[in-house]
Amino acid sequence: MLTLGFNEATCKENSSVERDLELCEKYGYDAIELRLDMLKEYLKTHTIGDLQQFFASSHLKPFALNSIEDINFNTPEQWEKLLELFRFGCEVARDIGNPYLIVVPTMGPDMDRKTEAEVFEDSVKVLGELADIAESYGVKLSFEPIGDRRWCCNSVRQAWEIVQAVNRDSVGLTIDCINFYMHDKCSDLEYLRKIPAEKIFVYHINDCEDLPLRVLDHCDRIMPGKGCIPIADISRVLREVGYDGPACLELFRPEYWRMDAEEIIQMGAACCAPYLG
Ligand code: ZN
Repeated sequence: MLTLGFNEATCKENSSVERDLELCEKYGYDAIELRLDMLKEYLKTHTIGDLQQFFASSHLKPFALNSIEDINFNTPEQWEKLLELFRFGCEVARDIGNPYLIVVPTMGPDMDRKTEAEVFEDSVKVLGELADIAESYGVKLSFEPIGDRRWCCNSVRQAWEIVQAVNRDSVGLTIDCINFYMHDKCSDLEYLRKIPAEKIFVYHINDCEDLPLRVLDHCDRIMPGKGCIPIADISRVLREVGYDGPACLELFRPEYWRMDAEEIIQMGAACCAPYLG
């Protein structure tokens, strides 16, 4: 049985941390993935104490912060900047009892020229360095491969090999439906069974329009059940390997950002329900 989670990207243009918390609690979500940029906005008029107070009396619990992006192949200056945001994320996570921080490989026009060996070596190194810091805050890192070639690590297989080599209890994987689909249309769905449940930290649930992979993009994400990803199979396999955390609805659909957040959050709970098991 999976629980129900909400990733704030879904309403990032038409909501706020405050409103997401209120609506997710109202519609029965179990977990929320707060976004660091939305948190920074929230903290202009609120305190960490406000968040702690909310979660102390809510059913909804903090789950994963999103996200530290472009972790690979940084210049020293880029790395310092990344660490600044990373430490902010770790502090908030520690203070509100949020277990995971999502870390994402680097995107860029030259990333598809990187060899798998280069990506492996760099990812193992930077994830180790980030984990050294995160562990001191009691925070775990969930590495999320992004399915298309603009990102340097784009398959679950590649990410899992990296996470195995990192070999730390505090570093695991995010499985995201569209990122899994974007790589090769989920042609080897059974591969997910190779990953032990304790290394699957986060599950992002979403569907997408039935477009050729060469044009499919994150803005084509759509509510679960309205697209072409075999979400029922992915969710079933994850349940069968023993993952029992939240399926977090994560969409980046401009059409939804033009709608009322309440309508989306209510619709999201209904659309995810059939996949929770
Ligand atoms: Zn995701």
